[in-house]
Amino acid sequence: MLAEAVALCECGCGTIRMRVAGKSARATCREPVPIEAHGAGIQVLLFVRRGLLTSLEIVDYGDARPLAYPLPENLNLWLPPMVQID
Ligand SMILES: [Zn+2]
Repeated sequence: MLAEAVALCECGCGTIRMRVAGKSARATCREPVPIEAHGAGIQVLLFVRRGLLTSLEIVDYGDARPLAYPLPENLNLWLPPMVQID
């Protein structure tokens, strides 16, 4: 599987739209954002549609543009709570 960035938000926030090339296994996700990360005044949301990566959205609460990408060590991953299904 190869995911590539195909579009960049023109506002300067750094949000990218992605395309998955070739045949790929599809993830089973109940939510369109199965994982996100939070930092100081910033959120990073990974969107999945029909089981494939579609975008990485950067949400920040400041006015700086272009916005520098946050460093991974400055983000805390957040996973939605899971319910065990038997
Ligand atoms: Zn933007």
